[in-house]
Amino acid sequence: MNIALFGPPGAGKGTQAKELSKYYNIPHISTGDILRANVRDGTELGLKAKQYMDKGELVPDEVLIGLIRNRLTEPDCETGYLLDGYPRTIPQADALTGILSDINKPLDAVINIEVSDDELVKRLSGRRSCTCGESYHVVFNPPEKEGVCNACGAELYQRDDDKEEVIRQRLSVYNEKTKPLINYYDDAGILVNIDGTGAVDAVFADICKVMDQFK
Ligand SMILES: [Zn+2]
Repeated sequence: MNIALFGPPGAGKGTQAKELSKYYNIPHISTGDILRANVRDGTELGLKAKQYMDKGELVPDEVLIGLIRNRLTEPDCETGYLLDGYPRTIPQADALTGILSDINKPLDAVINIEVSDDELVKRLSGRRSCTCGESYHVVFNPPEKEGVCNACGAELYQRDDDKEEVIRQRLSVYNEKTKPLINYYDDAGILVNIDGTGAVDAVFADICKVMDQFK
């Protein structure tokens, strides 16, 4: 089963990807991991990518797609893969379609985890941090005493990144960037929308119903 997973920040994509990879025994493939592994191992493309990363520049698409191609031809991808965080643009999607057809591993489905902006704001803005590194959530993981760190007793604070205004801005950028890709895969007939509002287990079960079709 060849799957790509989409979802906004706060939709629980990372958690789902980890669980799905274990459950179906297919590798969870993220471009960040591939880049790190290739830079670490000093592969030809890894060294090329590093030149850009060292300058603080984005790794060009042709380098990235080469790395993804190499990764997907490794033996553990024989029965499938779970692609996470790629593609992010239409040119990347086009390039991906090309190499997947080349290596005969076309996507079976693009699973898009949908959660409303209001719900995401609720999830993301509830985070409270401590200077000691601990973090909490006012609803999902509250400290024993409101506003105080369990570990060190210091007063908790809300990071700027976790403020509603900043989150809404981030989500609107995500929606704007992702929309064309959603349309792209919808037109290709392989987009499946999953309601990501419920509990983690319920969302997992819904995703499995889709993925089971491609076992
Ligand atoms: Zn603390």
